[in-house]
Amino acid sequence: MTKKVLVLGEVREGALRNVSFEAIAAGKKVSGGGEVVGLLVGDAVQSLGNEMISYGADRVVTVEHPHLKTYTSDGYSQAFMAVYEQEKPDAVVFGHTALGKDLSPKIASKLQSGLVSDVTSIDGEGDSAVFVRPIFSGKAFEKVKIKDGINFFTIRPNNIEPLAKEEGKTGDVQSVSAEITNLRTVIKEVVRKSTEGVDLSEAKVIVAGGRGVKSEEGFEPLKELANVLGGAVGASRGACDADYCDYSLQIGQTGKVVTPDLYIAAGISGAIQHLAGMSNSKIIVAINKDPEANIFKVADYGIVGDLFEVIPMLTEEFKKL
Ligand code: FAD
Repeated sequence: MTKKVLVLGEVREGALRNVSFEAIAAGKKVSGGGEVVGLLVGDAVQSLGNEMISYGADRVVTVEHPHLKTYTSDGYSQAFMAVYEQEKPDAVVFGHTALGKDLSPKIASKLQSGLVSDVTSIDGEGDSAVFVRPIFSGKAFEKVKIKDGINFFTIRPNNIEPLAKEEGKTGDVQSVSAEITNLRTVIKEVVRKSTEGVDLSEAKVIVAGGRGVKSEEGFEPLKELANVLGGAVGASRGACDADYCDYSLQIGQTGKVVTPDLYIAAGISGAIQHLAGMSNSKIIVAINKDPEANIFKVADYGIVGDLFEVIPMLTEEFKKL
């Protein structure tokens, strides 16, 4: 049986996040040849509708309201429910992002439905779709099949390939009105820490530093390499605890979970809690002075050496490409 799948597009600072396009690709598989409907929620999102269509959504519905400019679970739940009542989808896809992790369980429980979270791949299509998700901090994978009810699931960024973009494709973008009332929280202003460069959770390349980086200044060569590779800088908790960098860079069990194409770990020992956040990266390069460091057990390429010598050498070589 084919399914109607609703896919939430995530908007940040006026642009769609990449995970939205990955979610459309996931929605296509789950639909089994049915319909994929994009959903955009915000204060001015109508203009982004056609971008979802160019990535494979069959049509898009939008809910716009001044109180939806910034995410609140109350406001987004009300917007979602208005669309849900109109569309009655068989399945719903969210990104496994801060927003998706907050909103999806709330709505799934309201609709008395199950939720498969943190999906990294989908085997099969339509009714026979099987969702694969890591468990025990990535040490094992669980395969989940939903027998009945609405299928809610969240997909981990950077794991499901988006469909090829059809440049210039346009389609049906329809606005749905929703009453956004009795909000317990109204966000007046968001003050962001200055975020330079690429978003860590969506980065294709991450250069991460640990306590071996030794100081805040020690991160400079890592930033330079990340710049040359068009990537982001990450860190172990060891480096964050030592105040060498901000906690927003922390990767691991209690930090961000990332799956870039290339993860360069410099001066990181490879504690189990760190591996929980990065061991599913496609290629791992470890740089460590200690040949016995645990990080080498998960590395595809290991360089035994001083990161302050190795990183600048890599940067110079990559600059030549
Ligand atoms: P260290 O273990 O001190 O390793 C530093 C490494 O740098 C060493 O291997 C050393 O050989 C190498 N080195 C030193 N100088 C150089 C140099 N010049 N060149 C090359 N290599 C050099 N950790 C996380 O990362 N993320 C988490 O989310 C996380 N969550 C946790 C949750 C809990 C409940 C607990 C208990 C711990 C958690 N930790 C987490 C902490 C974790 O256990 C480790 O303490 C931490 O990851 C160690 O950080 P590190 O590898 O940078 O430091």
